Amino acid sequence: MAVTWRNWARQQSCTPARIERPANEEQLSEAIARAGRDGLRVRPVGSGHSFTDTCLTDGAIVDQSAMQRVLDVDTESGLVKVEAGIKLHRLTAELHRHGLALENQGDIDKQSLAGALATATHGTGERFRNLSANVVGCRLATATGEVVEIDEARDADAWRAARVSVGALGVISQYTLRCVPAFRIHRVDELRPVTEVLAELDELVAEHDHFEVLALPHTDKVLTYASRRTDRPAAPPGRLAAWWNDDVLSNVGLGAACHLGRLVPGAAPRVARAMSGVIGRYEQLGDSHRVYAHERRVRFTEMEYAIPRTYAAEALQRVRVLIADRRLPVLFPVELRFTAPDDAFLSTAHGRDTAYLAVHHVVRAEYEAFFRAVEAIMDEYDGRPHWGKRHFQTAATLAARYPAWQKFQAVRARLDPDGMFTNDYIARVLGPVGADTGPSGTEPALLGKQHEDTVLGDDARRET
Ligand SMILES: Cc1cc2nc3c(=O)[nH]c(=O)nc-3n(C[C@H](O)[C@H](O)[C@H](O)COP(=O)(O)OP(=O)(O)OC[C@H]3O[C@@H](n4cnc5c(N)ncnc54)[C@H](O)[C@@H]3O)c2cc1C
Repeated sequence: MAVTWRNWARQQSCTPARIERPANEEQLSEAIARAGRDGLRVRPVGSGHSFTDTCLTDGAIVDQSAMQRVLDVDTESGLVKVEAGIKLHRLTAELHRHGLALENQGDIDKQSLAGALATATHGTGERFRNLSANVVGCRLATATGEVVEIDEARDADAWRAARVSVGALGVISQYTLRCVPAFRIHRVDELRPVTEVLAELDELVAEHDHFEVLALPHTDKVLTYASRRTDRPAAPPGRLAAWWNDDVLSNVGLGAACHLGRLVPGAAPRVARAMSGVIGRYEQLGDSHRVYAHERRVRFTEMEYAIPRTYAAEALQRVRVLIADRRLPVLFPVELRFTAPDDAFLSTAHGRDTAYLAVHHVVRAEYEAFFRAVEAIMDEYDGRPHWGKRHFQTAATLAARYPAWQKFQAVRARLDPDGMFTNDYIARVLGPVGADTGPSGTEPALLGKQHEDTVLGDDARRET
């Protein structure tokens, strides 16, 4: 019986020839070998939280939701070995039980670890890199079903490619992650004038461990999320405040406003101003994994671009002006986040201090003209689109934005010479296997504030 696979936003779907659900590495290898014998291509999927067609195939989908075990925890070194299908919420809860945590997280935890890493999923904080930078090693099932062990010492190029692979190298079955001692975060959310925040942006980002700006369209206000790590005891917000903030404002109210804006576009600016009038200060102090992650019940689609950090304020202003000038019925905030550079070949933060600018639109709204206009701005900043979020780029437009593009392609040609893990998305954004699609130049020096030895993954060399 044909089964339809759908992503979280329910805007991408396919009818694969089969969906495999291996429970261990051996079954995973067999599933890939079987697909090969039957002439099927393969796509690994996690939680389907990507907005693009990255998971779609008419071949075999490999769903690893039955591979979620924590295999080994070394609390001394912080090295943790897990099955790749583990969901982030399960992983962080397990880590917490062992006194450990992920160094940083994004704003939900429903993704699978493999899916989050494959697209360079990130949080915010200028001293922290995206999640994939903490991958010390992994095991990858290739097109024949053979499993190869990858880490920096064995094969440095494969390690830099596999950390952010967009699922184009094979199916990763296990990761070894470097984790940090568990910590708590004090986060303050407050509404402030946009001019004030953008004038002080560099200081605000530098003086907080995690700093994020949410510009409310059609208003002169931004909501800032400002977090510091702390040893103070947890102090959960009051139930009423939590209900108002997490249920009403972030979900029910936002959803109602967005749908009103979609149905009556002319009302969007007034709705936006009314929304900004009911947002108050909100504080949370708790374990990192609880403070980072939030419920997102309003379904939306999203585009996010990684641009050089130095253009953050200017780019945000241009997108605000775009929305205001065209009176676009957009009610989701424009989001601005920050990360340190890293050295994974396809990391959106490869080699540069990065600002991430994201725009969202509620599902069923017409998003394309808006996103294309934002993309045109991001192109001027040499922007790199999030691999799991909407964009209109191709291998031809992306290659020059990644200094190590050819190195990734060389690893891809080595690990998947026949393109078994290529689908329409991969063909579009990475090109065919073995094609000469990019510059072969040397990588520039990393432009970040981090110590070079950390960025270059010396940690991995200490793994035993
Ligand atoms: C509500 C919401 C909030 C989000 N918040 C953030 C955020 O704060 N920060 C951010 O950066 N992103 C964010 N995202 C984007 C999201 O983190 C990425 O799209 C992520 O890839 C989704 O993980 P997933 O498990 O759903 O992967 P999927 O979407 O299922 O797959 C993503 C990619 O991973 C590949 N893949 C999956 N498993 C494997 C495997 N075992 N081996 C190799 N490749 C594999 C797939 O083939 C695909 O290319 C958000 C998305 C949503 C819907």
